[in-house]
Amino acid sequence: MAIAPPASDATGVRKTTCYMCACRCGIRVHLRNGEVRYIDGNPDHPINRGVICAKGASGIMKQYSPARLTVPLRRKQGAERGAGEFEPISWDEAYSMLATRLARIRHEDPKKFAFFTGRDQMQALTGLFARQFGTPNYAAHGGFCSVNMAAGMIYTIGGSFWEFGGPDLARARLFVMIGTAEDHHSNPLKIAIAKFKRAGGRFVSINPVRTGYSAIADEWVPIRPGTDGALLLAIIHELLATGLYDREFLVRYTNAGYLIDAAESSPTFGLPLSDPASPEVNAMYPQNRRWWDRIANQPVAAHTPGVDPSLFGMFTLPDGTKGIPAFALLDERMRQYTAEWAEEITGVPADTIRRLAHEMGITARDQKIELPIAWTDCWGGEHATVTGNPVAFHAMRGLAAHSNGFQTTRALAILMSLLGTIDRPGGFRHKSPFPRAIPPSAKPPNSPGAVRPDMPLGGLALGWPASPDDLFIDDDGRPVRIDKGFSWEFPLSVHGLMHTVITNAWRGDPYRIDTLMIFMANMAWNSTMNTVEIRRMLNDRDEQGEYKIPFLVVCDAFQSETTAFADLVLPDTTYLERHDVMSMLDRPISEFDGPVDSVRVPVLPPTGQCKPFQEVLIELAGRLGLPAFVNADGSRKFRDYPDFIVRFETEPGSGIGFLAGWRGEKGDRFLKGAPNPAQWDRYAANNCVYHYRLPEAYQYMRNWNKGYMEWAQEVRLRRFNEPIVIQLYSEVLQTFRLAAEGRRPGRQPPDHLRERIARYADPLPFWYPPLERDATDTDRFPLAAITQRPMAMYHAWDSQNAWLRQIHAHNYLFVNPVTAAAAGIADDAWMWVESPWGRVRCMARHSEAVEPSTVWTWNAIGKAPGAWRLAPGANEAERGFILNHLISDELPVAGSTARVSNSDPLTGQAGWYDVRVRIYPAEAGDTATAPGFAAMPALPGTAGAVPVTLAYAGGARERR
Ligand code: SF4
Repeated sequence: MAIAPPASDATGVRKTTCYMCACRCGIRVHLRNGEVRYIDGNPDHPINRGVICAKGASGIMKQYSPARLTVPLRRKQGAERGAGEFEPISWDEAYSMLATRLARIRHEDPKKFAFFTGRDQMQALTGLFARQFGTPNYAAHGGFCSVNMAAGMIYTIGGSFWEFGGPDLARARLFVMIGTAEDHHSNPLKIAIAKFKRAGGRFVSINPVRTGYSAIADEWVPIRPGTDGALLLAIIHELLATGLYDREFLVRYTNAGYLIDAAESSPTFGLPLSDPASPEVNAMYPQNRRWWDRIANQPVAAHTPGVDPSLFGMFTLPDGTKGIPAFALLDERMRQYTAEWAEEITGVPADTIRRLAHEMGITARDQKIELPIAWTDCWGGEHATVTGNPVAFHAMRGLAAHSNGFQTTRALAILMSLLGTIDRPGGFRHKSPFPRAIPPSAKPPNSPGAVRPDMPLGGLALGWPASPDDLFIDDDGRPVRIDKGFSWEFPLSVHGLMHTVITNAWRGDPYRIDTLMIFMANMAWNSTMNTVEIRRMLNDRDEQGEYKIPFLVVCDAFQSETTAFADLVLPDTTYLERHDVMSMLDRPISEFDGPVDSVRVPVLPPTGQCKPFQEVLIELAGRLGLPAFVNADGSRKFRDYPDFIVRFETEPGSGIGFLAGWRGEKGDRFLKGAPNPAQWDRYAANNCVYHYRLPEAYQYMRNWNKGYMEWAQEVRLRRFNEPIVIQLYSEVLQTFRLAAEGRRPGRQPPDHLRERIARYADPLPFWYPPLERDATDTDRFPLAAITQRPMAMYHAWDSQNAWLRQIHAHNYLFVNPVTAAAAGIADDAWMWVESPWGRVRCMARHSEAVEPSTVWTWNAIGKAPGAWRLAPGANEAERGFILNHLISDELPVAGSTARVSNSDPLTGQAGWYDVRVRIYPAEAGDTATAPGFAAMPALPGTAGAVPVTLAYAGGARERR
């Protein structure tokens, strides 16, 4: 049963889950006469234990934002897109307009409907809707955020950072944070770092900028953006050269000892050798790999108990096949990556690199942890204890958001593995439902036939390709998706490429679409590259005078820059007004010791005519007759979203639904069990969170832990229970490379992409300059420009928040004083920052906390005039700026008229941090940001400027 919001004049305290950022802390919302008076942390919540940050406490100002959309809006007949002229309509009109259009598209060609979402927490539902509709054109924000981090790690160790896993700071002795924003994984990480430092741990931060977490690091190692991969490779080089790696761990749990086919003429060249006489066990994850027994000097099945495999050498098998251990190939590759080589690229002194490598190596070797926990490995080995090496890392977008980020992330995962720190105490720990298989078993569809009129999509829109056979392409090798995901251009684009959608749809490449629905993403401003051009594309018309993107639906809670371009605006609720789930089917909030999921329950009724977007999807799905949402007779199956959450099962009778807690008719089952009509009540009565603690024997070594694997398969967290062997050497990448080289039968890339795939799909990590360097005269544009989220704000949502605006009313470009002096730019002076693709006028702030070849700013603080209902002359529009104007979504190809996406060539991750710039003083008297934009008019239903801040301080809120 749904949890009813309190009466509109209620007084009291309600518990729910914060959504001022993605950390999902528990909060208490204090109401007086139906009004939010105060928000504090819930001391009983396992994630934050009562801790709240500035953002969380400022949720009040999000709730009462003057930019709240409160009524569905339709672009006025004859009004130009972008002019912001709308008329209110009823929900019934909105539903009927949208359902009629979508029903036609679904009947004619479902892929003409594209559905992309931002940093929402309901991707299991939005993905289900898209799949049931039948469109392949669905993804969330991952492709332009941090897919390189997810893909690079998951294709290597079966897990990643953030919601998927993290540093075990409770036991680590050395913590290395690299490429992390000043406030990523906010409260939980702050709490963990505070305890770590109090316990005497050493904290090293590697980042071009020293702010946020880096400010409290024991050592800051400044590094040039886009060069982290070179540093990591040089550290690996040092560990290998000095023998400071965990040989036992590598032998048992990685593919270090697997013999790799060394015969260049072989069709399986570069792939692990298999023993045809041994059972494969699982065709997706073959178990019959081979080692070379270094004592008996003969081939042997990999992981044979009691055998110690050779890690170096070349071996000839009885049939004449030659094999080299994967570790030997890694070692050979790493020899070139000396500390001196890396110093040239990264700016980090060679001595520092050697010292860091040594410190990591000896901390891992000499401060071993041993816990009295018995466990059994997947090959039957019994272990009396769990051991660990206390070196922990945390990394994120600073590594990922480069066009070389996938291979950089692979290098990090391999470094962590060499140190023997994967799912062990003091190192990296997985969070349920991870670890996943390498690669995970879910695959995207692999032919255009998966898209059928009036039918669900024949597969999941997003998955994990293992070979060219899993690409979503047609017989001629052309992409099926509008964003070109899972094509030869971006074969491992596991989160889609949201940043290519508008350009591709505008160009009709690979085809035109009819309707683009955007939820919670500011695609006409800070959530896009090439902002000025993207805004033009949204308004552009074809020869017949029709918009090139014919219909644009924007679903949001606020009047953003993007709402102006909509044909239909659907007003969403805030997080305080709705039910939500942070589901095990999606991105839950698990802890190292077991699965955790959580919910939000409404603490206020919806404002105006706002509806939770989930309700909109359920209603539309019912009207469209999408099979999972209707009964056999076509009648609507679910009363509302809370009813859907309780009764939906992945398959009839599977017992697996969105929520893991209090399942079963009596609410006494977990993870798997029949629907429980009282499930929402149980969550509401338990701080909105469910936490299942695994037995200790299942909490570590989960890639290879027999007990855990069997349990996880039983509760359907995993499909298979084969061990997840770390891929120091990537079989998947070599498979793509063989296709590119024409050695593999079956699907072949188009000729113009063969060289690209062969180069980047390297089974061993390597460093190359970001693609943008090739397209840029780096003498003319010598500096790197990067952004990061401010600690007090989360994306665009909060730079309109009346309280948080007082912390950052506008942003500066931070420039090292030496760099600024060389350019003749004074502190606080107006200046230009220019890339090959555009220029922005902004204010300078001298800062020694940035390395000299980098400039940086906070993202999403600058606003278009009138957007977010900020008052005329608001600092955010007059002085605030976004660097997006400087970043191109496509790059020219040298010697050709072709253009290439500014993305990682394997995953399609947007290369946000690759842009090169130069800086110079602005003209005297120029004291406003540029480029400038026409002011957006107020949308009907928004309240406009309200002096809520002062009224709150006075103890009563009145709209005046
Ligand atoms: S860290 Fe994020 S989820 Fe936690 S209180 Fe702050 S804004 Fe809310």
